[in-house]
Amino acid sequence: SQSRIEDGYEVLELIGKGSFGNVRKVRDLETGNLLVRKEVQYGHMNHKEREQLVSEFRILSELKNPYIVEYIRHSHYSDRQVLFLYMEYCNGGDLSSIIKKYKKDDLYVPEELIWDVFTQMLMALYRCHYGVEVPEVQSIYKDFKLPVIDNTTKVFIHRDIKPDNIFIAKTTDRDVYKLGDFGLAKSLTSESAFAVTCVGTPYYMSPEILLDRPYSPLCDIWSLGCVIYELCSLKPPFTAKTHLQLQKNIQNGEYPPIPNHYSYALENVINKCIQVDLNNRATTFDLIQLINFKIHMKDLK
Ligand code: ADP
Ligand code: MG
Repeated sequence: SQSRIEDGYEVLELIGKGSFGNVRKVRDLETGNLLVRKEVQYGHMNHKEREQLVSEFRILSELKNPYIVEYIRHSHYSDRQVLFLYMEYCNGGDLSSIIKKYKKDDLYVPEELIWDVFTQMLMALYRCHYGVEVPEVQSIYKDFKLPVIDNTTKVFIHRDIKPDNIFIAKTTDRDVYKLGDFGLAKSLTSESAFAVTCVGTPYYMSPEILLDRPYSPLCDIWSLGCVIYELCSLKPPFTAKTHLQLQKNIQNGEYPPIPNHYSYALENVINKCIQVDLNNRATTFDLIQLINFKIHMKDLK
């Protein structure tokens, strides 16, 4: 097949269909790098959808972190009413395909992999929730203080953390997990520390969002807990035949235990995330502190 050159890129295969339009693999002709291009036809979009789109662009371009899918640039063709959003290509697909694979092969996901996902997603969420990078491992271990959030801090809430939005970049020595798809993310300044909207995917949606209550960064922690649980149990913690029953189960907050194949430490962090009462749910900061010993040990080996 013949490849096509467009916008300075070699246009390669279609890799997915996003809610906004096609997602295609492209090669940057200058650098040779593989990228992903989200092709967004915005002509038929309503005001709300356009706002969501603009917010995804803005948020991604402001968030640079090893564990967040890198935004490269965008180009706009107003005559065709199309936007091209260029992002880092993650060659390992997304976490939902890992879950499917282990389920099909009837195998447990290795605990080490689950901790990698958890740790790396906490790094990404720390950047989002506190507006700064996580400190170096050594200082986490010794003297880790809650970062100051003032009205210059840009706080982002992802709001749609689920296996399909966690991408995998395979390198020769390790797999890196990257949070992507900031289509529903919300940026908050500390004056408007809370906002009310009802979006997200039911399986991973926190009870406060289901109840249309004000949301905070803690809704991402609930969802992350559900993802980690699913990696262990190969099914989400809350399932039901109907939407209404699912909602009830989530609000109830009770879920079957993870297989006893896994450690108590893993069960414990899941339990700290999946807490209906916001006062009992761990923050990103709490969780990094909780696991820092593990990070430290890994760093030493
Ligand atoms: P949406 O959630 O709006 O449908 P996504 O951003 O999740 O859109 O992308 C849709 C699909 O495109 C994903 O399931 C994935 O297969 C693929 N995809 C998206 N971004 C990337 C990326 N950075 N690297 C590799 N594949 C990607
Ligand atoms: Mg998605």
